[in-house]
Amino acid sequence: MDSAAFNDPSAARALIDKIAGLAARLPEVRLMEVCGTHTMEIGRLGIRQLLPGNVRLISGPGCPVCVTPAAYIDAAVELALSREVRMATFGDLFRVPGNRRSFAQAKAAGADIEVVTSPRAALDGARKSPRQVVFTAVGFETTTPATAAVVKAAAKEGLRNLSFFVAHRLVPPAIDALMADPSIRIGGFLLPGHVSAIIGADAYGTLVGRGVPGVVTGFEALDILAGICSLLDLLVAKEVAVKNNYPRVVSARGNPAALRLMEEVYEPEDAVWRGIGMIPRSGLRLRKEFAAYDASVRFGLKPDGVEVPRGCSCGSVLKGVIPPEECLLFGEACTPENPVGPCMVSSEGSCAAAFRYGGRP
Ligand code: SF4
Repeated sequence: MDSAAFNDPSAARALIDKIAGLAARLPEVRLMEVCGTHTMEIGRLGIRQLLPGNVRLISGPGCPVCVTPAAYIDAAVELALSREVRMATFGDLFRVPGNRRSFAQAKAAGADIEVVTSPRAALDGARKSPRQVVFTAVGFETTTPATAAVVKAAAKEGLRNLSFFVAHRLVPPAIDALMADPSIRIGGFLLPGHVSAIIGADAYGTLVGRGVPGVVTGFEALDILAGICSLLDLLVAKEVAVKNNYPRVVSARGNPAALRLMEEVYEPEDAVWRGIGMIPRSGLRLRKEFAAYDASVRFGLKPDGVEVPRGCSCGSVLKGVIPPEECLLFGEACTPENPVGPCMVSSEGSCAAAFRYGGRP
């Protein structure tokens, strides 16, 4: 099927009508889209504005840059400013504020910081230059296997001037933490298509244990509308299940090669999510066999703390407790040009999406 078929207006109309019919049989429902790419697409397509008044779509913590702790950025920026290393980082992380400076500000102050599009580019850079290169390894399960492959490649080559400052995060423990928080009332989850392609639809078993349905959803207009429709269907039927609406990309068990690679290179650890706090076994660290490539070991980096900038409500936004527009700084003191918090910087941040596309009318 070509992409036009996933955006067919008459099919969209039929789904919108079906959503309205299902919603009429329900009280107010709060559905969370966990993934930042869903947040951006829902905003861009105006899907919130198409939904009945009692169906609320809440954005969740699925923007990897937004949940990367400020203390991590501080430690990386400090190392970059020491002039000991070249820092290789994704463009999304470049402008995210730490407690003191962002990478962009550190670069302006003379730090050697290169924006790269993949960990492979950092590997290539280390091969070509005698400089110590440190790659800022952030992201969810979608990006983790690519970093793991490069860690293994560097180890195989015996490369001595490349290391990885790892702040990878795992999505299922974060969903579980949200469900365990009584202040967050979510009736169902639109589950992330990209992450699920790696971990598989079966990875969300704890949702069922907590009595909440979920639907793995793709990113085209019809995918998202069909995902909402399926969630409402489950709610009307009072059925608690995780449904895979994205079988053209996601299988039940995920990508075995990618999962093996992650298992080989990383082990889980308790990790801090910016604005949210510590979530048990929600982060990854390099296994001891790869300690020579661990920047936190090589340079003694110890980021800790859960700080957010003064006045920034990113924590409540990321947990779906408030919509971005309810932050007092939204659109005034905090804009994409002058971001205060990470949710306004990232191309997948909830605040950036709300600023760009507007929220609920
Ligand atoms: S609008 Fe800005 S300050 Fe407010 S929560 Fe979003 S990123 Fe933080």
